[in-house]
Amino acid sequence: MSSPLDRKECYIGIDIGGTYIKAGVVSTDGKIWAQRLQNVQHENLNVLMKQIVAIIHELRQAGASFQFKGVGIGVPGLVSKKKSRISISPNMPYLNGVEFKAQMEQLLELPVWLENDAKVNAYGEMLMGAAREVRDFIYITIGTRVGAAIVIDRKIFQGASGYAGELGHMGVDPEGKKCFCGGTGCLERYVSAPSIAQRVEERISLNPTSALQIITDRPITAQDVSAAAMVGDKMASVIIGEVGRYLGMAISNLINLLNVEKVVLGGGVIEAGDVLLRPTVEEVKRRALSPPYDDCKIVSGSLGPSAGIIGASLLARDVLTV
Ligand SMILES: [Zn+2]
Repeated sequence: MSSPLDRKECYIGIDIGGTYIKAGVVSTDGKIWAQRLQNVQHENLNVLMKQIVAIIHELRQAGASFQFKGVGIGVPGLVSKKKSRISISPNMPYLNGVEFKAQMEQLLELPVWLENDAKVNAYGEMLMGAAREVRDFIYITIGTRVGAAIVIDRKIFQGASGYAGELGHMGVDPEGKKCFCGGTGCLERYVSAPSIAQRVEERISLNPTSALQIITDRPITAQDVSAAAMVGDKMASVIIGEVGRYLGMAISNLINLLNVEKVVLGGGVIEAGDVLLRPTVEEVKRRALSPPYDDCKIVSGSLGPSAGIIGASLLARDVLTV
């Protein structure tokens, strides 16, 4: 009979986004053995923690043949340098100031590592995805919110207090839209999924021939807009083109500033593919200085929605075993 110590070691990776919780059992070589996708239960801290505990319980049962070594959790917010506390979570204010690591460790009876969601996705792409061979890159995720991670010499740059990478609040229009952060004209207000849906709402009545007119039984989503743009709908194409221009403006600033080898894009909005990538790259080319632009590739991530699950698990593997 095999002892528990003979069982394959694994970690659980959880990527909490603004809309979904993605979670999986990942072996130490980065392979996902079981996974779950659920809508985030947004009511309050207790409800969210109960949801996470239930998902992990399910995954531990699904992976009963594994030896569970720890849990990595990516959260949509600013995580303190010690990776114990969520300082601010704009989309889930009930997480503000919560000592999430200690609370989850108590509930799960496993070691927990906490990190910002963009950073865990970047870690996944770095170890197993589009940035495997790359030393310096920027990962940008665009979904409910906009996040980023700056990776220098294959290390995630943390900044003075752990908060580096909040690209969503880079100003792109001094007279622009108000942002919940208190600022004006933040990138997130122009390229996030909710901002795309809002653009459609503002214009749909003026565009009676748009294919999006047929969606009347529910709110139009960013995904609907991308799908319509892919089949050539004029209003949707204009909106996705505008998103690409704002995104391109931000990326050109980053390329000029950091001279990275790659910009890897992820998150739900990026699933639009070429219809978004094309205007984005055109704008970067127009704005960035030629030498750093010529040496930089702008690509979609290769792990898709699994990047965060793999990244969170492997980060836990690398940090919790040291
Ligand atoms: Zn902002």
